[in-house]
Amino acid sequence: MRLIGHFIAGREVNGVSGRTADVFEPMSGAVQARVALATPAELRAAVADAAAAQREWGATNPQRRARVLMKFLDLVQRDYDSLAELLAREHGKTIPDAKGDIQRGLEVVEFACGIPHLMKGEYTDGAGPGIDIYSMRQPLGVVAGITPFNFPAMIPMWKFAPAIACGNAFLLKPSERCPGVPMALAKLMIEAGLPPGILNVVNGDKEVVDAILDDPDIRAIGFVGSSSIADYIYTRAARAGKRCQCFGGAKNHAIIMPDADLDQVVDALIGAGFGSAGERCMAISVAVPVGKATADCLMEKLIPRVRALRIGTSIDLGADFGPLVTAEAVARVKNYIAVGVAEGATLAVDGRGFTMPECPNGFYLGGSLFDNVTPDMRIYKEEIFGPVLTVVRAHDYAEALALPSEHEYGNGVAIFTRDGDAARDFAARVNVGMVGINVPIPVPVAYYTFGGWKRSGFGDLNQFGPDSIRFYTRTKTITSRWPSGVKEGAEFSIPTMK
Ligand code: NAD
Repeated sequence: MRLIGHFIAGREVNGVSGRTADVFEPMSGAVQARVALATPAELRAAVADAAAAQREWGATNPQRRARVLMKFLDLVQRDYDSLAELLAREHGKTIPDAKGDIQRGLEVVEFACGIPHLMKGEYTDGAGPGIDIYSMRQPLGVVAGITPFNFPAMIPMWKFAPAIACGNAFLLKPSERCPGVPMALAKLMIEAGLPPGILNVVNGDKEVVDAILDDPDIRAIGFVGSSSIADYIYTRAARAGKRCQCFGGAKNHAIIMPDADLDQVVDALIGAGFGSAGERCMAISVAVPVGKATADCLMEKLIPRVRALRIGTSIDLGADFGPLVTAEAVARVKNYIAVGVAEGATLAVDGRGFTMPECPNGFYLGGSLFDNVTPDMRIYKEEIFGPVLTVVRAHDYAEALALPSEHEYGNGVAIFTRDGDAARDFAARVNVGMVGINVPIPVPVAYYTFGGWKRSGFGDLNQFGPDSIRFYTRTKTITSRWPSGVKEGAEFSIPTMK
C-alpha cells in the first residue's frame, strides 16, 4: 500500500507517529493509499525549520520571489493532465472539473506574481518641516493554512501563493482525504526554485491542527472548511494572539424573478447545483422562484433535467458529475433526503436508488430535487453538501430577498432577472458576501477577493486579491526628519501639525 508522508524542508519524509488515515479512490471505493498523521513534535520540528529558512526568503527581493512562482506556473502546465487525474481519483470529481480546480488556483498564483507592485508601500514627501513618512509591508514569518477536501489544488494555492510571494514560510495542513495533489504542488515549487523549508506540507488530523493553533512561531492561520471547525479555529487562534481568517460552510440561494429566462436559469441551476456532486462551497443548493407561475414552470423544466443527469466515474469524460468523496458523505446526504421527506418537503426526484454496476463499491448518488421546502426545515437550514437541490417558493421579491439575507450562512447568492432595477436593488441589499446577477457561481476573479459573510466567514480580510497581501504582511510606518541636525529644543507636548 502506498504511504503518503509529509513534505518538510524540501523533501518527502515518512511520518513517525504510526497513525495513518485511509485515502480512498471514490470512483471504485477502494483504499488507494494511507496518509501519515503527524504528531505535535513533527509539526514543531517543521515550524522550526521553516522559521530558519524564512529569514533569508523574507530578505530576498520580491522580483526573485515572483520568478519562482512564474516557473511554478510553467511546471503545473507541464504536469496538468497527471495532476488532474490524481485529483479526480482522490476527490471523485470529473477530470474536466479537476482541471478547473487547478486553473482557479493558478489564477491566484498569476496574481501573486505581481508581488513587487503589490507590496509597495506609501510615501509622503514633506509631511512636516523636513519630515517624510513612508510605510513598508513586511512578511509575518511562518504562517499556516488548513484546507478542506473539496478543492485540493485551488484552495492550497489560494493560500500559499500570496503568503510565499509576501516573503513568508508556509505550512500547509491539507485535508487528510485528498493529500496527493498538495504534496505534488509542494514538490513542483521546489523544482521551480523555492528554497527548502519555505513550503511544507504536514498531513494530519485534529491533533496536528491543535498543535498549529498553539505553536508560538506560527503568526497567522488561514482556514477553509465547515463552519463549526472554522468557529473553533478562529476562537482558539485568536486567543493565542494569531492573525486568523476562517471560511466556513454555505447555503447559496438562487432567486428566480418572474421575468427571468427560465431555460437559462435551468441550465445554471443544473450546473451549479450538481457540478462536483454539489460538493462546492459555492454550489447553488436553494432555488427560490418568485410567484406560483414561475415556480410551477421552473419545476416542470427542472424535473426531467435532474432525472437526466449523467453520473459517471471520475475519469468518464462524458459524466456530469462523479462520486462523492467518501461512503460517510453518501450516508450523510441520504440521511438528509430522509429528513426532508419526514419534514414534509416534496421529493420530486430521488437520487438514492442510483447504482453504478461496473463500480458497485464506489461512492455514488444520483441527483435529488425537493419542492415545497420551507425555512423551518433542517434541509433548508443546514448544509447538505451533496447533489440535492431544494426549492423554496417565495410569494414576492421581498420574501425572496429576506431568505438568503436571514439565513445563518452568507457565502454566495444569485439573482436571475432581466430587470436591471431589481438586480441592482438586490445586489445592494442582500446580506451575503458574493453576489451573482445571472451568474450562478459568482466566485470573483483573482484580483478581487473571495469571502462569505455571517457564519461563512470569520475574520475581516478575504482570501486572495489585495486582502491576501494585507493578511500575509504587516505594515511598518517610518517617520523621518532630514536634516537630522535641526535643533528645536525639547518638546513636551504631543507633536501635531498645527
Ligand atoms: P472540514 O471542516 O471537515 O475539514 C477542513 C479541515 O479541517 C481539514 O483539513 C480537516 O483535517 C480539519 N479538521 C476537521 N475536523 C477537525 C477538528 N475537529 N479539529 C481541527 N481540525 C479539523 O471540511 P471538509 O469536509 O474538508 O470540507 C467541506 C466544507 O468546507 C464544507 O462545509 C464547505 O462549505 C466548506 N468550504 C468552504 C469554502 C469557503 O471558502 N467558504 C470553500 C471550500 C469549502
